[in-house]
Amino acid sequence: MKKLSRRALLQHAGGAFLWLMLLPPGAHAFEVQHGRLSVIFADPRDRQQLGAVYEAWDAAARDLKGLGLELPANVRIEAAGNAADFAARTGEPANIAASTRGAVIRTQRLSALAERGLLPTTVRHEAFHTAQPPGIPRWLAEGLARTFSGEGRADPRTPTGLEGMPDARLDAELLSRDPGRLSTAYREATVRAAKLVRARGWQGALKR
Ligand SMILES: [Zn+2]
Repeated sequence: MKKLSRRALLQHAGGAFLWLMLLPPGAHAFEVQHGRLSVIFADPRDRQQLGAVYEAWDAAARDLKGLGLELPANVRIEAAGNAADFAARTGEPANIAASTRGAVIRTQRLSALAERGLLPTTVRHEAFHTAQPPGIPRWLAEGLARTFSGEGRADPRTPTGLEGMPDARLDAELLSRDPGRLSTAYREATVRAAKLVRARGWQGALKR
């Protein structure tokens, strides 16, 4: 039998299901291309979410450009097959929606994000991370990503209790494994970043 590259085999649509069965558990089975964006997913049902991913991606690209930010040339979104697969790939807790390193975005199963209404904001949030200026502090990156994605709009308006925490400690808090502490830290980072955007505009906030 002629040995095909994995990608060549994947492009042969008829063989996709067989190929899925031959792959080790958790391996990525399907790959699609949207412009310069690649989306790889393990669960065939995730195909139904691709339209929503592309729509959110294109809108994010447009809006980032408006802020003077450029997406990297070749971004890959790798959707895990399930929460355990996501945790194994990223080392992140199972309650995290996605994690980005450089131009690779690793997400939970796309259908799982869609069911929880998180798919468009997750795509926008991670798109921001791929385009953010290098070297900005973690709290600012997370706060700006949540402001850009619109996630901050759903945050409670009550005080976070972290108002007096120095930025550097907030950076450390954003690495917490405790879900409650983590979500409070994200909320505080968003309050600070949004305040900066209001005071100096996006250009000023991004130069920090
Ligand atoms: Zn983030």
